[in-house]
Amino acid sequence: MPPATVRFAPSPTGRIHVGNARTALLNALTARASGGRFILRFDDTDAERSRREYADAIETDLAWLGLAPDLVVRQSERLPLYAAAAGRLEAEGRLYPCYETAEELDRRRKRQIGRGLPPVYDRAALALTAEDRRRLEAEGRRPHWRFMLDRVDVAWEDGIRGPSRIDCASLSDPVLVREDGSYLYTLPSVVDDGDLAVTDVIRGEDHVTNTAVQIQLASALGFAPSRYAHHNLLVTASGEGLSKRSGSLSLAGLRADGVESLAIAAFAVLTGTSDPVRPVADLDELAGLLDLAHVGRNPARFDPAELLQLSARTLHGLPFARLADRLAAAGISGEAAEPFWLAVRGNLARFDDIEGWWGILHREIAAAGEDAELLAAAAELLPPSPWDDRTWAAEGWRSYTAAIRERTGRKGRALFHPLRLALTGRDSGPELAALLPLIGRERAEARLRAAARPA
Ligand code: GLU
Repeated sequence: MPPATVRFAPSPTGRIHVGNARTALLNALTARASGGRFILRFDDTDAERSRREYADAIETDLAWLGLAPDLVVRQSERLPLYAAAAGRLEAEGRLYPCYETAEELDRRRKRQIGRGLPPVYDRAALALTAEDRRRLEAEGRRPHWRFMLDRVDVAWEDGIRGPSRIDCASLSDPVLVREDGSYLYTLPSVVDDGDLAVTDVIRGEDHVTNTAVQIQLASALGFAPSRYAHHNLLVTASGEGLSKRSGSLSLAGLRADGVESLAIAAFAVLTGTSDPVRPVADLDELAGLLDLAHVGRNPARFDPAELLQLSARTLHGLPFARLADRLAAAGISGEAAEPFWLAVRGNLARFDDIEGWWGILHREIAAAGEDAELLAAAAELLPPSPWDDRTWAAEGWRSYTAAIRERTGRKGRALFHPLRLALTGRDSGPELAALLPLIGRERAEARLRAAARPA
């Protein structure tokens, strides 16, 4: 695949959610896999709803996912480009002023529907004379501006949906500029895609109908066409969509809940494709798995509980090297850090659970005794240390527990449960064979003896 230039173009009107992450990742990973460029573009021409804090938060959320844009642009800083494009369209007779109010348009639409006609804008404004316009403006009306569509079929090969076409005769000429001179999304988006030489527009299928308009607009402005790919949208099991404004499943919320960013990435990319949703070791592996041709056409249904499971499975497989910094930040470092990670990772639902385990190894715990006879024997039979790292788990632990079994006659749960409780204070957890050397001989013996004493 030749290097792709792609963009993720959120409007900064709220925190992004897993559905937005899906769009961002499909773009960023396409750039990564092709050695291309990933642009973050803030669609912030709607001054009323756009907020700088949201834009900053989106950058933070993307960074947490591991996505670093090669370029960040804000449409609010590129207005002269859009004005030039609008001027060009107007000069070529493709942009025309209209004066209808929303109520007038609404009445007209209802009349058309009543007569069984498609509710397409009737281009009445084209019939206005210069005199009519002067009169309207003297009444205080300001024009909004529509792009005159060619009423033809527009076809494109969609990177996900395959051959696609839209009959532009069924669409109203889109409004590009509002009464107050501000731009709706369509024109800035096409100008930026053209100006920044975006090769691939990968976005949600809610934008399919915009595509025909955008293809016509790009060609009217002399831009090389981008390729388009429209992905299915993530919906909850009950079919509900996600919304930036409602804050549902926001990345910030998931992060606060301790969900691994790598799990969110795998989940967002693989859900709704023909590939299984599975943990990955890093974004490069995920980029290698991504194939837009595998993205389905039905809504991508998911259950948030799956995301938590995937997060746990992601943690369970992470090698120490990928975690060393986070462990150190949690105060877990030194020689014991790696064996500790390998011993406990399979028991973590969330990364933060690790601190509890580290504490169990390194702080005092309350003596929890069950079967004093067994515990006394276990204390007495502890083999002398140091224990050989290489042979302990296989031989050392086996012969130690065999000796306890022989001495006390306990086996199975009756043997292991009291040991676990006395050594860790917990009912369940990582393999005792792996924990014991981390607890250390001295502390283990003290815990066994303390737990063996009648309370
Ligand atoms: N700002 C638009 C959105 O958030 C971008 C659509 C596009 O990718 O062209 O839906």
